[in-house]
Amino acid sequence: MTLPPFELHRPESLEEATELATRYGEDAAFYCGGTELLLLLKLGFASFGHLIDLKRIEELGGIRRENDALVIGAAVTHRTLERSDAIRTTLPALAEMERRVANLRVREVGTLGGNLCFSDPHSDPATFLLALDAEVVCRRGGGEARRLRVSDFVVGPYQTALGEGELLTEIRVPALPPGAAVAHSKFSFHERPTATVACFVRVVDGVVAEARVAVGSVGARPVRSGGAEAALAGTPVSELDGTLGTAGERAAEDAEPVDDAAGSADYKAQLVNVLVGRTLREAIA
Ligand SMILES: Cc1cc2nc3c(=O)[nH]c(=O)nc-3n(C[C@H](O)[C@H](O)[C@H](O)COP(=O)(O)OP(=O)(O)OC[C@H]3O[C@@H](n4cnc5c(N)ncnc54)[C@H](O)[C@@H]3O)c2cc1C
Repeated sequence: MTLPPFELHRPESLEEATELATRYGEDAAFYCGGTELLLLLKLGFASFGHLIDLKRIEELGGIRRENDALVIGAAVTHRTLERSDAIRTTLPALAEMERRVANLRVREVGTLGGNLCFSDPHSDPATFLLALDAEVVCRRGGGEARRLRVSDFVVGPYQTALGEGELLTEIRVPALPPGAAVAHSKFSFHERPTATVACFVRVVDGVVAEARVAVGSVGARPVRSGGAEAALAGTPVSELDGTLGTAGERAAEDAEPVDDAAGSADYKAQLVNVLVGRTLREAIA
């Protein structure tokens, strides 16, 4: 596998990146770690005369705390997230989820922004961020920033809400409110996850006041399960075991699993059912 020839551009600002994207139009593509894009080029699934490397744009880097949110630059790598002190102290479940993405070589260069923008249906971060009701910020150089919920950003397989020449600049992850916890589980046969489940649970006075159940990697895109969330809300924690089966079944329905190389839709529904119970138990523990 060899890379076809292309001209490499290394902008240092969003404005410069957008200007290059506008100048070369459909013959140009952005990339960050290149773990997805360069593979597509090598396999001959895509071809561009111009690649725009985003790694030098300062605005896309860094991790900071802002009010009640962790703000992560789109170009931050999985490996940096896994090892960040800010993440480990504020939201250890995020560091733990990142530690289990891909392999060390991919995590070392692959970025959170690249993962979300590629929108492969088999994604750990997309499922995790959905359960946390995280937001992303998108901007065309010089233009107004747009803030979108992850649920509105990830539109479908390999499809996002990004407009032409628009960049994902940062991911905003809300801090956990008092009494809340989040957990993420995955099951994999191949390199990418076959099923991913993330659960956010907020308990007040021994009762589930709020639950968010996100399921990914089994259908066209990660989704929240309204059915599972409704089944869990208002349940005393001491009676939760009796509700886990219903929550798992409803999540499996809402996820709309599809048949593919990783297994049949029925099999994936079973996986989701089991993972939802396991992940909820972990979040409540
Ligand atoms: C072997 C292997 C195993 C993997 N296993 C897992 C796994 O277990 N779990 C999981 O979740 N993922 C997995 N992945 C996916 C991996 O997480 C992604 O490849 C990586 O995060 C993509 O980031 P990148 O910076 O390399 O993206 P790139 O390849 O640089 O870009 C991907 C796409 O996003 C666009 N893009 C990138 N950044 C931006 C931006 N800021 N604004 C606008 N567009 C942008 C590019 O134009 C391109 O279309 C695996 C990948 C590989 C190769």
